[in-house]
Amino acid sequence: MVDCIFCKIINKEVPSYKVYEDASFYAFLDIFPVNHGHVLVIPKTHYPDILHTPSEVAEGLMRLVQKIAPAVLKATKSEGFNLGMNTGSVAGQAVFHTHAHIMPRFPDDGLRLWGHKPYEPGQMETVSSAIAHEIL
Ligand code: AMP
Ligand code: ZN
Repeated sequence: MVDCIFCKIINKEVPSYKVYEDASFYAFLDIFPVNHGHVLVIPKTHYPDILHTPSEVAEGLMRLVQKIAPAVLKATKSEGFNLGMNTGSVAGQAVFHTHAHIMPRFPDDGLRLWGHKPYEPGQMETVSSAIAHEIL
C-alpha cells in the first residue's frame, strides 16, 4: 500500500477543490498553481507515472483533458494552456501518482517555457536514429 497524497484526495482523507469526478477519474485545483485555474487530472487507480499507466487509462485521461481544458479556459478567460506531465524526479515529478497538469496562460503572466540546447552539426542525425532505434 503506497502512501500517496493523491489517493488520499480521491478517498477524501485529504481535502481538495474538486472540479470533476466520475467512476474512473478525478480533477481538482493544484494547491500551488502556476496560474489560478491550474487543474490536475488523475486516474482513481494508483499508477506511479504515465509510463506505468495502462494505455486505456492514459487514453481516458487525455479524453478528460479535452473535456476539462475548455472549461478551464472559459472559467479563467484564458486563451491557451500548457499541458504538463512531469515524469521522474529528474523532470520535477514530486507526486508519483499519474497526473496531467492543465495550466491556463495569460498574456504577460511572467511564466517562461524551458530553454534550448542547440545541436552541433551531425548530432541531430545521431540522436534521432538512436531514439528511433529504441522505439519498440
Ligand atoms: P508534479 O511535480 O508534476 O509531481 O506535480 C505535483 C503537483 O501536485 C504540484 O504542482 C503540487 O502543487 C500539487 N499538489 C501537491 N499536493 C497537493 C494537494 N494536497 N492538493 C492539490 N495539489 C497538490
Ligand atoms: Zn496514488
